[in-house]
Amino acid sequence: MRGMEREWIISSPVSHIPVVDLLKNALLWCGVFLTISLKEGEPVAARLIDGKALALQVRERLATESAAVLAKTGMKPGLATILVGDDPASHLYVKSKQKACDAAGIYIDDHKLPASTTQAELLALIEKKNADPKIHGILVQLPLPKHIDSKVVLEAVSPDKDADGFHPYNFGRLVEGHPVFEACTPKGVIKMIESTGVSIEGKRAVVVGRSNIVGKPLALMLLQRNATVTICHSKTKDLPAVCREAELLLVAIGKAKFVTADMVREGSVVIDVGTNRLPDGKVVGDVDFESVSQKAGWISPVPGGVGPMTIAMLLDNTVESAKRMAGML
Ligand code: NAP
Repeated sequence: MRGMEREWIISSPVSHIPVVDLLKNALLWCGVFLTISLKEGEPVAARLIDGKALALQVRERLATESAAVLAKTGMKPGLATILVGDDPASHLYVKSKQKACDAAGIYIDDHKLPASTTQAELLALIEKKNADPKIHGILVQLPLPKHIDSKVVLEAVSPDKDADGFHPYNFGRLVEGHPVFEACTPKGVIKMIESTGVSIEGKRAVVVGRSNIVGKPLALMLLQRNATVTICHSKTKDLPAVCREAELLLVAIGKAKFVTADMVREGSVVIDVGTNRLPDGKVVGDVDFESVSQKAGWISPVPGGVGPMTIAMLLDNTVESAKRMAGML
């Protein structure tokens, strides 16, 4: 039971009688009593951070901004999507990103390449897109086939068109505290925290996971917004104790339902980045939603949480890039 959320009820069998009358007749009403009771019934659930709804709001805003770019430049914001190979999950991801682009008035330049594509061929295509004025963002869908070095490919994308925010230049700018493109998933997480109205400044934030695409950039973004940040990883000692200190708990480790209620501070904001497919096909996060939602103040679901916001931030970065190039920022 969450102390601060307890429901206090003043109960009276005569609650329909005006207060003055009630006082006048107080002596007559020997049987009248006031009880102040604490309702110890159902536990109070955390409020949901609905990533799907937030992403829809972002797309609506972007549609207006894309129209403004088109009116000024005669061109829609443009995103080149490059997919190498036949991985069905990657095809699905790219398709959903393209669908979202469509809804936000973003031009899609689609490139589906066979798994046999050489690194040199891929780099040549990226070079072409770097120079194409219709393109404001370039997405290279990961993972790439094994014979291609992802690091080399991601570094070949112009930092000015790095809509995914993975280029070392943009990562370095984030470390400096002056980001240009911010990586989509952590940027989405920040927007989700902001949507709760809970201020990031001064809060104790714990990021579980230190990958280059989620944990590290997220920690830097929180630091930039004046949180006091701890980064945890697989070698962290007494992880539950560290997590219990968190007013903002952000989890990205890739382990189904790993974070349980005993690891969570009451009333905290919990954002679950994890996407894990169970043997029965169900997709769950890194947080045990059922138990944690009874203790946290805010919680994001999986699916319908960070996933849609990641896509929305890809579009956001593309439109922002188009506005920057058009001198509209
Ligand atoms: P990753 O590169 O595999 O990194 C996992 C991180 O978690 C590592 O830093 C690892 O620590 C840490 N970790 C693993 N087990 C741990 C444990 N028992 N205790 C504490 N830390 C532990 O993963 P990622 O790319 O960041 O992705 C993480 C999850 O987010 C995955 O489920 C992924 O599918 C999901 N994801 C979702 C989206 C989205 O849009 N929804 C986007 C990106 C990722 P070490 O460094 O010590 O190994």
